[in-house]
Amino acid sequence: MIPFNKPYLTGREQGHIARVLDNRKFSGDGEFTKKCQLWFEERYGFKKTLLTTSCTDALEMCAILLDIQAGDEVIVPSYTFVSTANAFVLRGAVIRFADSLADNPNVDPEQIAALITPRTKAIVIVHYAGVACDMDRIMALSTHHNIPVVEDAAQAIESFHNGRPLGSFGALSTFSFHETKNVQCGEGGLLAINDEKLIRRAEIIREKGTNRSSFFRGEVDKYGWTDIGSSFLPSDLLAGFLLAQLESIDHIQSERIRVWQRYWTHFNGAALQHRVQLPVIPAYATNNAHMFYFTCSDLQQRSTLLAALKAQNIMAVFHYQSLHESPYYANRHDGRILAHCDRFTDCLIRLPFFPELTNEQIDEISRTVISVLKS
Ligand SMILES: *Cc1c(COP(=O)(O)O)cnc(C)c1O
Repeated sequence: MIPFNKPYLTGREQGHIARVLDNRKFSGDGEFTKKCQLWFEERYGFKKTLLTTSCTDALEMCAILLDIQAGDEVIVPSYTFVSTANAFVLRGAVIRFADSLADNPNVDPEQIAALITPRTKAIVIVHYAGVACDMDRIMALSTHHNIPVVEDAAQAIESFHNGRPLGSFGALSTFSFHETKNVQCGEGGLLAINDEKLIRRAEIIREKGTNRSSFFRGEVDKYGWTDIGSSFLPSDLLAGFLLAQLESIDHIQSERIRVWQRYWTHFNGAALQHRVQLPVIPAYATNNAHMFYFTCSDLQQRSTLLAALKAQNIMAVFHYQSLHESPYYANRHDGRILAHCDRFTDCLIRLPFFPELTNEQIDEISRTVISVLKS
């Protein structure tokens, strides 16, 4: 059986975890948490980063930090993971769902422009498959209307827009280290804070609403409850695991790029243009090889393909069910039709993707896909 995902281990996770055990400091903000945060700040130039228990939690922190109140409007792509929207719904926000582009699942900036009202408090974007959204246009809208951008960069580690790291554009951005992501520790996340004015409060929100971080830096002589917050910091054991992965990012990425390029060579060479839509990487974007997906011509073709792959023990999968049509949000949505999101919901398929996928396996998967598509 070829699984859809097989989380990668570098071999150094155990050593780092053993060291945390020796340290006898297992709670958050220990040696490895600090090392992971420094790694992100140095490599990508983020002003401040905070390790969190998940990307979902980092997004919930964003909603608190931006003071989202009941009835505030937040613009969110519909073709995304539930947490991108749910984090803001928890604060009472009204979600205005934006459609995707025609040629890839990233949000259409013109859709964002059309949804901005005096009540819009945040623009949330997702770099789908680690491929950058059109940040020039999106940041121009943000500046012009003075509305902060949150980048859900869960899939976007080590990816760039015109040379600038994803996660460095928004006032806030979030990453995921769930075991399905390029760099992982089972469950984990990171909040990157690019707007300096938000750093102090972010530390407090992450520490249950207390100024404990200032206390440990010796800035105040006692700590107490100063704001709302929750428990968003992970154990240093997880940070030890994560640091091993970060130290191996170049190797992980080169293996993932090998897998992506080999799929691409098969499919691009197979003259499939009239049968499926292959992934598009805009000129301003890099490809961090988070996944290999393509878009079938209809639901029927995708179902046939998924079944044929499963019969060969190849675990391909579809992806998001657009949030504007979800059981929870459908009757709250404003009724607009989001045709591109609907098409990606029905037609997008993802192939097995992980660093240890062998060239022979990629060739076998590709042959099966191409023969089904051409039959
Ligand atoms: C994986 C993912 C998340 C959630 O990440 P967790 O760390 O599991 O909370 C959020 N948004 C997007 C776009 C994702 O791909």
